[in-house]
Amino acid sequence: MPVDPQSAIDLLKELRALTADENGAQRLAWSPVWLKAREWFQSKLRELPIEHHLDAAGNSWTTLRGESDKSLILGSHLDSVPNGGWLDGCLGVLAAFAVLRRISEEFNGTPPVTIRLVDWADEEGARFGRSLFGSSAFAGTHSIDQDRNRTDATGLRLEDALASCGINIDAIGNAAVERRNAAAYLELHIEQGPVLESMDLPLGAVLGTKGVERHAITFHGQEAHSGSTPMNARRDALAAAAKLALEIRPIAQRHPDAVCTMGSVRTFPGIVTAVVGRCETTLDQRDLDAGVLAQMYREAQRKSIQFAAEEGCTVEWSRIWNIAPEPFHPHLIELCEEAIHETAGRVHRLPSGPLHDAAEVSRAGIPTVMMFVQSLKGISHNKIEDSREDHLQLAITAFDKLASKTIDWIRTQ
Ligand SMILES: [Zn+2]
Repeated sequence: MPVDPQSAIDLLKELRALTADENGAQRLAWSPVWLKAREWFQSKLRELPIEHHLDAAGNSWTTLRGESDKSLILGSHLDSVPNGGWLDGCLGVLAAFAVLRRISEEFNGTPPVTIRLVDWADEEGARFGRSLFGSSAFAGTHSIDQDRNRTDATGLRLEDALASCGINIDAIGNAAVERRNAAAYLELHIEQGPVLESMDLPLGAVLGTKGVERHAITFHGQEAHSGSTPMNARRDALAAAAKLALEIRPIAQRHPDAVCTMGSVRTFPGIVTAVVGRCETTLDQRDLDAGVLAQMYREAQRKSIQFAAEEGCTVEWSRIWNIAPEPFHPHLIELCEEAIHETAGRVHRLPSGPLHDAAEVSRAGIPTVMMFVQSLKGISHNKIEDSREDHLQLAITAFDKLASKTIDWIRTQ
């Protein structure tokens, strides 16, 4: 019995009509539009022989009981950034729904293993700055103390927004009970980058999510008059920072999938008539390999000290944030490749630069893999986010095959 990919695409369009305005999708977590999207989704599920509940962190669980309690989990997120696209997150949820329906019909409501569909709460963190909220509660990597007093642009506290949706922030760790019997997790998502399009491929198997090292780097020199200070007497903090901004390219380019970005620079006093005495910059480095990430971090530090010395300056580093790489399950990556190969003929393995709920699930020790579908122009988190409809059809078909292969694998465990 084949999956019906068009049904999922039609539902995506219906959801877009219901929750987007002229600027794009507005399904901001814990907002009325997000709640409306979830209610709409529940109304679609009613036709199936399922159970449904929200867990302690607001994740939405739909369960089709199988002969075995061992569970295959399929999921993604219905929430969006403000002015978001029509596919980020909800493609994975509605593809999972199409697969769930196919499995329910094929096995007359009782598949060999239990199938669960999860819509994670607040994946984006767009409103309170806490990404992967629900999945980190599930995984046990939540950070209640830091999150308690987060506020949105209107000053409303996260804690209070949760309470208005029936969620007690002190209890979100109880979402960990949902890990019981979890045997595997699969997520279909748009790539949100340009790699598959540049290779003219519709689909890719995701190797894992890259780790991130994020630092504030400040160069200290000497403010001085731009007219009276000879060139060889200057301690120009911007000059040192500029050298580093160019050096991070070869540091990254020594590794095939590594990226390094200096995304901000502020100069002080920041006027046209003064040599820069202090330059504040940021560096974001990512790779799937923890060793590569650590090496790039050390190299950038060493070079920053060298460039500071060359310019008569000093340099100071402080870590803003970091997260370890999360490689996905080797056998599930193989099954994902097989499913793509059978559906689209050609396949590519690639790491994910963006973080995803799947990384949290994997961190909890549950075998996990993601499948990516090509994003047009690599654009996401924007109303022009799009993928070709024939690619979406291939994606849902391949994801369904991956689900069948994973069920067979779970039965052998
Ligand atoms: Zn997403």
